[in-house]
Amino acid sequence: MPTAPTVSIARCNDYNVPRVYTAVKETLEQVNGIHKLVGQKKKVLLKLNLLSSSLGPEYAVNTHPAVVRALVDFFQKDVGAEVYIGDSCGSLRTGSTNKAFKVTRLDKVAENTGAKWINFDQDKHIEVKKSNGATLPTFRMARTVKDVDLIVSVPKLKTHGLTKYTGALKNTLGVIPAKGKKNVHVQAPKPSNFAHALIDIYEEVRPHLTLMDAVVGMEGNGPNAGDPRKVGLIIASNNGVALDAVASSIIGYEPLGIPTIRYAQDRGLGTADLNKIDIKGERISDVSIPDFKKPGNIAKDFAVNLLPGFLFAKMMDVSCDSYSTVYAPNCTKCYACIKNCPVQAITPTGNNDTARVDKEKCIGCFCCDEVCDYKAIVMERHTIGKVFLKIAELIGAERT
Ligand code: SF4
Ligand code: SF4
Repeated sequence: MPTAPTVSIARCNDYNVPRVYTAVKETLEQVNGIHKLVGQKKKVLLKLNLLSSSLGPEYAVNTHPAVVRALVDFFQKDVGAEVYIGDSCGSLRTGSTNKAFKVTRLDKVAENTGAKWINFDQDKHIEVKKSNGATLPTFRMARTVKDVDLIVSVPKLKTHGLTKYTGALKNTLGVIPAKGKKNVHVQAPKPSNFAHALIDIYEEVRPHLTLMDAVVGMEGNGPNAGDPRKVGLIIASNNGVALDAVASSIIGYEPLGIPTIRYAQDRGLGTADLNKIDIKGERISDVSIPDFKKPGNIAKDFAVNLLPGFLFAKMMDVSCDSYSTVYAPNCTKCYACIKNCPVQAITPTGNNDTARVDKEKCIGCFCCDEVCDYKAIVMERHTIGKVFLKIAELIGAERT
């Protein structure tokens, strides 16, 4: 009989490196089969969550450097491994991923530990071919992911205005270099098929371990424009579906209402049933934050687990689809959003004018929001979504 996945939860009140190290070691050592899993692994990749190339650790957008440092120390000193840290950030601007590495102060971590930085945009890439029926039949990803012995995914706990929540399952999108990530949005423009595309990628990478930075998460309009919120936790698991089920429960979601979690479970990648997960350390009820703010542009509870598959997808696409607008007073006319839009839906209205979005072209992918440092991008619900959610609120299926 297969053993239950483990999710291990430890309190960690701040980013003091020795305290983070204690929590990281404690959670990893509680994961069932950790010694066999880690064993004599010589090359370990920490796949980080580096979305922003300009916002430092205090904004809670990227994986915090103290968590990376603690993991590097654990794998170098306790396991004796050679450690690589890598990612590709959310921006198409030249040099963005290296800027994300620096602004997150990971250059100091690499300098002080000897861990090797791999910019996935500049890495060699391999072509992945999926079986028929996949949302992403082919994609290119960083070769280092296949060259190492152990992959540790290190997501940040955040809300997300397209997928409701981002954690273990969404974090593997970053193995695809910048331009390829934009193509994923074009190939899978609706919330339901984008979630399937994310699972296509997760399925291919299948990290051996996931360790989530939930010391300070992001609430509200994540993944880039929300607000930092202290959660005070480090969470580790040998299964990304189980970790996301636990972490999303902690911040007040119904796990199976989150499309990535539901589709990953449906595709046999793990369970989101909290009764079938071996939860160690803290209890969910003792650490939960039900008032953790959710994104304002999409449904919170609507389209949850009671709906059958086809209806769930339809409801996701109605209740979680949105389009981008520009809040002119905040727009600095930096035009980073224009370069990042995969469907050329943004233009300046004239010389030195604020950015403007063509609603008809916009696919609601969040690529502009992810590079706007001034909270000038505001995602809006489509009219049909507004009507559905109003009805859902009236019948009590959606919290107001
Ligand atoms: S919306 Fe944001 S990213 Fe776009 S031009 Fe304005 S400030 Fe720059
Ligand atoms: S305007 Fe923004 S949300 Fe809309 S398609 Fe372009 S990048 Fe995506």
